[in-house]
Amino acid sequence: MRQKTIKKDISCSGIGLHEGKKVNLTLKPAPENTGIVFWLKKGRERVSLDLNPYYVSDTLLATTLSKDNKQVATVEHLLGAIQGLEIDNLYIEVEGEELPIMDGSATSFVFLMRSVGLKKQNAPKKVLGITKPLKIENGNKKIEARPYKGLKIHYEIDFSHPLIGRQTYTYINSPERFVTEIAKARTFGFLKDVEMLQQAGKAKGGSLENALVLDEYGLINTDGLRFKDEFVRHKILDFLGDILLIGMPLWGEFKVSCSGHAFNNHFVRFLLENKDHYLTEITLSEEKHLTPKKKPVFEAEPEVVLNM
Ligand SMILES: [Zn+2]
Repeated sequence: MRQKTIKKDISCSGIGLHEGKKVNLTLKPAPENTGIVFWLKKGRERVSLDLNPYYVSDTLLATTLSKDNKQVATVEHLLGAIQGLEIDNLYIEVEGEELPIMDGSATSFVFLMRSVGLKKQNAPKKVLGITKPLKIENGNKKIEARPYKGLKIHYEIDFSHPLIGRQTYTYINSPERFVTEIAKARTFGFLKDVEMLQQAGKAKGGSLENALVLDEYGLINTDGLRFKDEFVRHKILDFLGDILLIGMPLWGEFKVSCSGHAFNNHFVRFLLENKDHYLTEITLSEEKHLTPKKKPVFEAEPEVVLNM
């Protein structure tokens, strides 16, 4: 399996969720072994920011990255699309402090990248594989990880709301499955929270055009749901984006309950801090499908890590 980037530059603009201002986004092809790199532009200044869970500075409404007094918010849906489409190398140039929210899903980003097309590069793909089962938990929030040849996510949410309730979904990552099962699922919020946020001067760009909004009884959006379990599918999109912040595509089987951006980030930081114990770099060469440096232990019971 070889690394991938996009064939040529592609730009779009849209409204940011936080500030409600217009922001410009350009995606550019990057050479092999570059990884995913943000270029945050303001006038002539440009700060480059690679994927690193320690750049996460805020997780209130979305995942925000900060470096050298520059920030970029709401990165998770584009990063989810990059992980879903299995793109390895890309420059993401942003003029503005956040990525455009588009329709609240990853579908516009998928459309952009697929419309210019993807290009296979010469270098073999590299991923980080989980080597040993582990589990982190805090109250009802849980993430369990196990070795797996690929990326598999079993997600569970439980909201005491008549339209959501308990939803579970099992997703095995591939570009085809990402496009049909996950990319279209929109972000969601509750009317009481939206009102509170907007009174506090936040979520200024939030509207029924870019989020599913729920009151006590049901959905306020008149166009209905795209999937009856759109909520849990969107949580998988967020998880795909948040775990890419580890800096490389991640391979493993993940059982996730009631997590969110903050807990996802905590999990990724924990993995990185304990890299020698739980992770190995795997080069996916064409001849030998899997060449891990350390042999994964598939059968062991997860080590429960309570460090919250
Ligand atoms: Zn989201």
